Amino acid sequence: MVPKVLFVGAGPGDPELITLKGLRSLRQADLVVYAGSLVNRALLAELKPEARAVDSAPLALEEIVSCMAAAVAEGKSVVRLHTGDPSIYGAIQEQIEALAALGIGAEVIPGVTAACAAAAALGQELTLPEVSQTVVISRREGRTPVPEREQLQRIAALGATLCLYLSVGMMEEVVAELLAGGAYLPTTPVAVVSKASWPDERRIEGTLGDIADKVKQAGISRQAIILVGDVLNARRQGVGEKSKLYDRNFVHGFRG
Ligand code: SAH
Repeated sequence: MVPKVLFVGAGPGDPELITLKGLRSLRQADLVVYAGSLVNRALLAELKPEARAVDSAPLALEEIVSCMAAAVAEGKSVVRLHTGDPSIYGAIQEQIEALAALGIGAEVIPGVTAACAAAAALGQELTLPEVSQTVVISRREGRTPVPEREQLQRIAALGATLCLYLSVGMMEEVVAELLAGGAYLPTTPVAVVSKASWPDERRIEGTLGDIADKVKQAGISRQAIILVGDVLNARRQGVGEKSKLYDRNFVHGFRG
């Protein structure tokens, strides 16, 4: 059997939001390399007393990979713990590739991504019939480049439900680019949820017209999700078109 590293989604913060499979892997691990900036350290209490926990925040990719590879070579069980879901802005592909070059495999255990935790915090469905049936996950360009065709203004032209990661520190630019897309209006509702599922979670709601000021006043500049789109009106204005899912005349086999 090819030795492997388990990439585990820790979830958005609340330690109870990791999957059972992820938790079991943590409890069995000999080495856990965790993303110290965002992963809730309470999860480390689940480790065996003799297990080693390493914060990856100050480490370069090569250091992270060689630390994990050395443990694998000793026959140890290794978990790489990422915040939220590892597949979303997790930078796992470069780690999987570097491990593969050393003959080490990878398995990914998914987690609850921040956008879902933000929607949960609001009690908000992101897909409503006739309003939006599409959820876009994106970010504004920062130090990490974004392909030209995915610049925020172009993404915004769709007018769908939008979940922006890694962007709350550039709120004014975000708003300007979203409005420039032409589909959202200054009245389009926006919710910013910081530290979703943590005890100090905060929810700020407004419109594209006033959200930048509200976020500034609240002093939120990191670790937040920006949700944009008309679905957010439903909690105040009610759901117009009901979903077919619980329609009496709908075939039950499709209920999700
Ligand atoms: N893999 C993670 C995302 C990592 S990128 C996931 O699936 O959630 C880091 C960004 O995620 C932050 O800048 C912020 O936009 C968002 N984020 C992570 N945890 C969050 C939380 N608890 N509440 C709000 N946003 C969060």
